[in-house]
Amino acid sequence: MRHIAVVGSGPAGYYTAEAAQKAFGDDVCVDIIDRLPVPYGLIRSGVAPDHQSIKAVARRFEGISLADNTRFVGNVMVGQDVSVAELLDLYDAVVLATGAPRDRSLDLPGAELAGVIGSAAFVGWYNGHSDFAALSPPLDSPDALVIGNGNVALDVARILAKTPAELAGSDIAAHALNALSQSGIERITLLGRRGPHQIAMTPKELGELGQLDRATPHVEAGDLPPAGHDGALEPGLRKSVGHLRAFADGVAQAGSIEIDFDFFAQPVAIIGEGGRAARVLVERTRLDAGGHAIPTGERYEVAAGLVVSCIGYKTSPIIGVPYDKRGGRFVNSDGRIGNGLYCAGWARRGPSGTIGTNRPDGYGVIDAVAADIGSGSGKAGPAGLTALLRDRKVDIVVFADWQRIEAAESARARDGSPREKITSVAEMLDLAHPAP
Ligand code: NAP
Repeated sequence: MRHIAVVGSGPAGYYTAEAAQKAFGDDVCVDIIDRLPVPYGLIRSGVAPDHQSIKAVARRFEGISLADNTRFVGNVMVGQDVSVAELLDLYDAVVLATGAPRDRSLDLPGAELAGVIGSAAFVGWYNGHSDFAALSPPLDSPDALVIGNGNVALDVARILAKTPAELAGSDIAAHALNALSQSGIERITLLGRRGPHQIAMTPKELGELGQLDRATPHVEAGDLPPAGHDGALEPGLRKSVGHLRAFADGVAQAGSIEIDFDFFAQPVAIIGEGGRAARVLVERTRLDAGGHAIPTGERYEVAAGLVVSCIGYKTSPIIGVPYDKRGGRFVNSDGRIGNGLYCAGWARRGPSGTIGTNRPDGYGVIDAVAADIGSGSGKAGPAGLTALLRDRKVDIVVFADWQRIEAAESARARDGSPREKITSVAEMLDLAHPAP
């Protein structure tokens, strides 16, 4: 019997478990370990709450969890409740699929001011992640600024711009819906340090910005390269740039929200007033021959009471695991970290790709595991972990426990919404293990 521990229950973790089930059939036991008492990682707390169709993949992950040879083990912090070295003693293979939950730091003067928030925290706040439920971002100023030209920047701008009615069918956390329904935001600036041809925004997501009830995207026509240059772009990017071209005609009506694309614009400093963000000092850039942003010396200020930096993520280091600080992920060679230790998903390759990109990633790492571990070496596996955690009085949450939490979340959902997420870990644990 092979014993495999997958650390992290997001898409990379679940696709790895699915690959192990398919590769080894009844000859494997898989534990999917998560630090939270709830599964699904980024599906639950990263994917935008108004993108329910993307979240539907959780049903597939539920099927993986319910297989007899697979167990969800929530509320267990690897590196704290159990070390990686201990897992390696218990399992033939340990796959770290811990994602990239930390913000790449915005290394600018003023980044510490109130009102300057990383996307992990901001997205976690509106998605009801227990680490960020108490964030309370300032939404009273008319001006918000979003740094970055990726899909996360789009998610943040769209959620800030939508009306409560547009968010009704989403699973946005009630605290965020209430705060956003009283928002004073009138203008959202999307700051891109490079140009329209260098965006990392996919066409479907960018197109949504043109369909909002009370917000109008606007692109300065002068920032767009000649239309003939679009032909050389990869088809997805060409389509995205097509949306930007359509946004060049955008004029926000009085009383609606303007979403301004400010290209060739690099943040230099956040300027505060009374201890909170008030403006962002920006420097114009131009592109060099290699497509890098080069500062031009031309500077200006953009008003911003809320600054959300959406500039990418990094994996959290774990004691004993080699970490590539620059890349923000574990040091690995095609998913292999060391003897018996592997990584998959964002922890392997950094924060890129869609949810589906993690499927080949999970299958690839299991190919490596299959080549390395043979038919297993008689380690203690799940029973050993259960005993160790019982000794340490760690209150583990298995899938049936999670289903009690999930039932409570469905029961609390407002009309039209699939769930109201519980944000307190203590409450999750009470629901998971009700008093007899
Ligand atoms: P991303 O796609 O890597 O975009 C990061 C953006 O931040 C880029 O525009 C980058 O500009 C900019 N940036 C980086 N460092 C900066 C700095 N110091 N100053 C100014 N700008 C800076 O990352 P992401 O938006 O966080 O998305 C992560 C992954 O999740 C992506 O693969 C994304 O497609 C995926 N995702 C998908 C969806 C969806 O499919 N619906 C939704 C959300 C996220 P440069 O290009 O100049 O470096």
